[in-house]
Amino acid sequence: MHAAHSDAVRRRRADRERHPPLSTAAPRRPTPARRSLHDADVDFLGWLRVVGGVCTVVAAREHASSDELRRLRARGALWVPLRGWVALAEGHGDVTRALQLGGVATCVSALRRHGLWTPHGDSDLHVRVPRATRTARVAGADALEDVRVHRLHERLPEERPWDGVDGIRTALAVASGCVGADDLLAAAESALQQGRLQREALLELAAKIPRRCRVVLERASALSGSGSESTFAAMLRRAHIRFVQQAELLPGEFFDFLIGTSLVVEVDSLEWHGSRAQMARDRARDARLTALGYRVVRFTYEQVMFERESVLQTVLDLVRRDMHERKVRR
Ligand SMILES: [Zn+2]
Repeated sequence: MHAAHSDAVRRRRADRERHPPLSTAAPRRPTPARRSLHDADVDFLGWLRVVGGVCTVVAAREHASSDELRRLRARGALWVPLRGWVALAEGHGDVTRALQLGGVATCVSALRRHGLWTPHGDSDLHVRVPRATRTARVAGADALEDVRVHRLHERLPEERPWDGVDGIRTALAVASGCVGADDLLAAAESALQQGRLQREALLELAAKIPRRCRVVLERASALSGSGSESTFAAMLRRAHIRFVQQAELLPGEFFDFLIGTSLVVEVDSLEWHGSRAQMARDRARDARLTALGYRVVRFTYEQVMFERESVLQTVLDLVRRDMHERKVRR
């Protein structure tokens, strides 16, 4: 990437992070002198592309004049998915569709945009509409088979995200009323693990949602490296099996789960691709643990997600045979 261009992108990313979603007083980005109108267009479109292709007109006006915006619309570079919003001509996706239905992307759709865990196979569009809105458009959206219309719980403040995608906290709050407990936990843990959400913020959120889900969020930790690990942890808790996550059993080497003193469980993530080198490393680690007296079991992502009964049965069998309470050398 051209250095000057990448600088500009970085600057705009910084702008975006500073961008107060509902502020009307945000300072306008200083415009370099003697910039041709054509460059100005490219500049704004480039910014919009970097931030996801959709924004409110209020946010757009911090980067382009009304004249520029009008001209870009006239020449087809921008379109209007909902009054008060603009989108790139090529930007048709979950977010613009949510806007066309009268809401913003939330819940699973927002979590996916944030790069967090989402339930396997959920390709529905999750839309959050304002609590008070009861329009025909929203009723129409509700009737669509691949759309789930949500409204935020009353204890939480409504926000209007300037890029059309609910923030992680709001998305999790909405998801607490939509997805299963294991999936909610996995999503929250992926946010903690990636450092996108602090535990305090999660606990604050937990206090405001229904009790059943509160417990799930209160248990979330940053220790699970993948959704399958989160799911496996939830499974063990339900079975009242005590465990330690990310136990350092060899100097500087961490293992997914330690049950009791001697049963080690490793869980592959969806992204795990068993290259020969990786497999060889895993085998070597297993062998070293086995030599010390541990029993090592591995489960694939598919086993944890789709064969939960038999995975749990395997663990229970090992526990029943006291494989978790053997003496090990440290
Ligand atoms: Zn949902």
